[in-house]
Amino acid sequence: MTLLKIAQIGHPILREQSREVSLSELQTSEMQKFIDDLIETMRDANGAGIAAPQVYNSVQICVIEVNNNPRYPYKPNIPLTVLVNPKIEFLTEETYDNFEGCLSVPNLRGVVPRISEIKVSFLDRFGKKEERIVKGISAGTFQHEIDHLHGKLFVDGVEDTTTLCTLAEFDRYFKDEFVKKMVPFIEKMGG
Ligand code: ZN
Repeated sequence: MTLLKIAQIGHPILREQSREVSLSELQTSEMQKFIDDLIETMRDANGAGIAAPQVYNSVQICVIEVNNNPRYPYKPNIPLTVLVNPKIEFLTEETYDNFEGCLSVPNLRGVVPRISEIKVSFLDRFGKKEERIVKGISAGTFQHEIDHLHGKLFVDGVEDTTTLCTLAEFDRYFKDEFVKKMVPFIEKMGG
């Protein structure tokens, strides 16, 4: 496996609409190796997820995994999920304030309002159709990664720019209050 280079904000590929992957292309050994490399790159960088455009490949594939993540210790675990050509359906209009960061936006976090319950339809890495209801803070993680496939970054959704902060200042000034709000929210939503 190979660790892939991660594109940084300002690189045009992060702003492109990526293309859908056909079933036959998905099943090639090249694409399967690419998915393995994407997973390895996410894990190496301690990301909660990563999308193909972030590694300079403009296709609709992203991977998500939260397993006691040191970048986001409050996040509930999400088993490794590979999403190919994902589509989101909002199941509520209710939003919550999610503090987000991104491997393509170094040393910055900010609050993005996210829909708190979604249905995600996608193909798994072998081309099998899947559907998943995702709730709570995990729903924000899915929305963040799928946004990447449409050229969107979390900074686009930051409404209150006074919440923008570095990781060190997040820990110092924002983390305690955010985690205090998130614990009952995660409990209520089950995710
Ligand atoms: Zn990101």
